[in-house]
Amino acid sequence: MVLVVNSGSSSIKFRLYKVVQGHLEIIAEGIAERIGLDGSLTIKANGIKDTWQHDFPNHLRAVETIIASLQNLQLINKPTDIEGIGFRVVHGTNKITKPIIIDQETKMIIKEAAKLAPLHNPGALIAIEAFEKVIPQATLVAQFDTAFHQTIPEVNFIYPVPYEWYQNHQVRKYGFHGISYQFITQKMAEITGKASHKLNLIVCHLGNGASVAAIKKGVSFDTTMGFTPLAGLMMGTRSGNIDPSILAYMGKELNLNLDEVTDLLNKKSGLLGLSQFSSDMRDIENEWKKGTKLPSLAYEKYVQIAADFIVTMANRIGEPIDALVFTAGIGENSPLIRQSIIMNLPLLNLVLDNNANHEKYQEWSKISAPTSKIPIYVVRTNEELMIAQETIKLMTSQNKKLNNLV
Ligand code: ADP
Repeated sequence: MVLVVNSGSSSIKFRLYKVVQGHLEIIAEGIAERIGLDGSLTIKANGIKDTWQHDFPNHLRAVETIIASLQNLQLINKPTDIEGIGFRVVHGTNKITKPIIIDQETKMIIKEAAKLAPLHNPGALIAIEAFEKVIPQATLVAQFDTAFHQTIPEVNFIYPVPYEWYQNHQVRKYGFHGISYQFITQKMAEITGKASHKLNLIVCHLGNGASVAAIKKGVSFDTTMGFTPLAGLMMGTRSGNIDPSILAYMGKELNLNLDEVTDLLNKKSGLLGLSQFSSDMRDIENEWKKGTKLPSLAYEKYVQIAADFIVTMANRIGEPIDALVFTAGIGENSPLIRQSIIMNLPLLNLVLDNNANHEKYQEWSKISAPTSKIPIYVVRTNEELMIAQETIKLMTSQNKKLNNLV
């Protein structure tokens, strides 16, 4: 069994997989929340979802409770049934380019990278150390959101600021959502039957956080998120790219320091900030249909920015593109947004198949008409599955090494 863990500063999301005849089957999933506060644990298994209140003073207590509850629910017989644990880690700096088995050095890198991802990396590290204590026999693997983007060439990742900011302070584009992009690239190779090292894709990962990536010959060539996940597209609550001078100006206007203004750009901007209504695209769409002024403005701005970045990424790839792919919460579920974005791309000669765009689908669907210059797809991303697969791969190669030694 393999457990996939996505841990933040106050929550631990998990999904338990079992390998059944070479396939990964979901046994259970859940979340331990409000760690450090009152605490609750939700587990969904066999179609039943239950929530229990718990006292979670820290991550260790939450991890102990998760494992004990999986055992009580007879989803595992004993903790060591879980042989591998795959952790989603947001930032791996430029030192990590692929999933790795966690050792002291990996933990040092995650710790160092906390400076670059203060909201995300500390939570991952605490969870890693808690699971190490609770199931010491398991192989622990880390997979990083930044790793897939380490193939981006320097001219694409560098900012036009003093070069020493990069040399001495690690200021560069890192890019995020890499696990999702890796999954989509693998899936598109399967769908199109083309080897992944030959695939050119523009992928729009549109969730609460959102980014677009140019995948050239199967690897990341550019992406819209940057030094942090605040850059690029307009998102649920994040502004995406804006004139950087606004920060200092609004700091003075509102009597806030730069961290506080950055916080407003992260949490009170984007769809929420512009609409003054909601960060949820479903709400924004409903108001746009009614013609409500600010939500409509937010909708139109969102679509315009997404379309502009798709053109940028097409230009980056600079050669025939095999597919434009929509994924994540909004990309997968909103025919309206997909249609509006496509309508804002007049120069790319894209043609949607309207029926296909509105039809229900399982894992993926082709939604373009045969006349479309670039085929368009919706594909459900599955970051947890990607992490589980990579964890098993590393466990297998570790076992092979051990067997060779014996
Ligand atoms: P996260 O980045 O938190 O993982 P998700 O990928 O789950 O986010 O995406 C969340 C977003 O998806 C929300 O803005 C939500 O409104 C949007 N979404 C989910 N279903 C739909 C739908 N049917 N139509 C439009 N937007 C949707």
